[in-house]
Amino acid sequence: MRNNDLKKGLDLKPLPTSKEWKLLYYQHGRPGLDEGKKLKGLCSYCDLQSICGLPKPETGVWRCEYYKSKVSRKSNLHENVLKLVEKAQSVNNFDRDIAKIMAETMNELVVHFPVKMDDDHVKVFTGYRVQHNNALGPFKGGLRFHPMVDIDEVRALATMMTWKTAIVNIPFGGAKGGIQIDPADYSPKELERIARRFTFALGNNIGPEYDIPAPDVNTNPKIMAWIQDTYMSTIAPDERNRCLHVVTGKPIDSGGSVGREKATGQGVVFCIEKWAQDNGFNLKGATYSVQGYGNVGSWAARLMKMNGSKMIAVEDVTGSIKNNQGIDPDDLALYVKEHGGVVDYPKAKAISHEAFFSTKVDIFIPAALENAINKDAAELLNVKLVAEGANGPTDEDGDEILQRKKIDVIPDILCNSGGVIVSYFEWLQNKRSEFWELDEIDTKLKKIIISAYDRVRDAAEKYKVDWRTAAQIVALYRLEMVYKERGIFP
Ligand code: NAD
Repeated sequence: MRNNDLKKGLDLKPLPTSKEWKLLYYQHGRPGLDEGKKLKGLCSYCDLQSICGLPKPETGVWRCEYYKSKVSRKSNLHENVLKLVEKAQSVNNFDRDIAKIMAETMNELVVHFPVKMDDDHVKVFTGYRVQHNNALGPFKGGLRFHPMVDIDEVRALATMMTWKTAIVNIPFGGAKGGIQIDPADYSPKELERIARRFTFALGNNIGPEYDIPAPDVNTNPKIMAWIQDTYMSTIAPDERNRCLHVVTGKPIDSGGSVGREKATGQGVVFCIEKWAQDNGFNLKGATYSVQGYGNVGSWAARLMKMNGSKMIAVEDVTGSIKNNQGIDPDDLALYVKEHGGVVDYPKAKAISHEAFFSTKVDIFIPAALENAINKDAAELLNVKLVAEGANGPTDEDGDEILQRKKIDVIPDILCNSGGVIVSYFEWLQNKRSEFWELDEIDTKLKKIIISAYDRVRDAAEKYKVDWRTAAQIVALYRLEMVYKERGIFP
């Protein structure tokens, strides 16, 4: 049961005072960076109406400690990633020694750093940067600010970045990082100090030619600009302007690239268009639903609209909504920007999580967090295609069920690679002091992602495997070639 169901028959109780049920302010999305308003109100998630039946806030979204503990959705993500490698290896008989290298991360950094809070007390935070492999080029991967960030998740996501850059043939390796925080718990000023102090703690473990972070869940261009500025401020003055490209996904004025903000969603849509073309499927009038209405989900949704497709259902961390006549993706994006989530969007009705997954549509775009398509969700899905905008959105059981139900899947490491491809363009522009036009970016992005799509499709046909295994084979093949050519030092 979600927030909208909870509103029915609520008697207005005072806020619970016990520590366990303490309500915490939560504003979805790019939390509080611009707004930073603190309000009191209803837990937007909790099933326990009796405890959380509180007045609804005018704006903003709330959750309680119970929900926080309940959202744990981990199931050994790293182990799952390695199982895929095993599977690909068994199909294509990859070199065992190289598989041994791929099963491990190269470097794992855990930093604990102090930050002064607004009320002057000091809090110590934990941050991670895992560098999986740099055989193909500098480490590359996003930074996530989320309470569920831990070493297992970061390891898994770093490993997936290596496959992603290998599949699309760009000269980067794989890395990932993050801080275990809920950004909504902090003021904009505190968040800035956290981001800067984390950057300082990472020190020379990141760098424009060594390891280049980018935005991921709950991080954005503004945070990238703070990281860039902190990095540049702590190196020799004559080096500074050669280091613009220490992060990608920056604001345009700070050296960002046009087209980077929409790049991941754009890549998802290029893949969907190619799938439609290959399968003789008409996207005009086709229906789709989206889970996660942040950067990736909202851009994918808006770009799908340009194909004449119709969005029927959307779910984010604040709730699930549906309108059989269609939800306008641009209008919803404006609403989410203003209200922090899709909940209470007036032009759609609130539905349950189960009803969201059961909604019959042609295409489902998961663009939230990992393991969303588990056994139960996969059983409910009634779609032709799953285009994975998120990283690791389908767990092992879910994947088996999608295959049994003959639902096509464009796997994450291919489908959401648009972000890292345009990050590569941003990095190149910074290095060359160039500014590319949007047309040029989109044309190059499409060329790269579609040729990767073709490689994955061809591998699936050649080895008679599902697309996820095929994508893994393509990535491992490229890495194996490089290791075989270079050998192992010394
Ligand atoms: P974001 O922070 O902009 O948006 C995340 C969205 O997921 C929000 O709408 C949030 O409400 C929703 N969400 C969170 N928890 C949820 C839950 N339990 N149920 C339903 N919805 C939930 O993040 P993003 O940058 O759009 O990233 C989304 C996914 O795409 C992540 O898996 C990320 O790793 C992946 N990805 C992002 C990029 C990028 O360029 N940003 C690139 C490649 C892959």
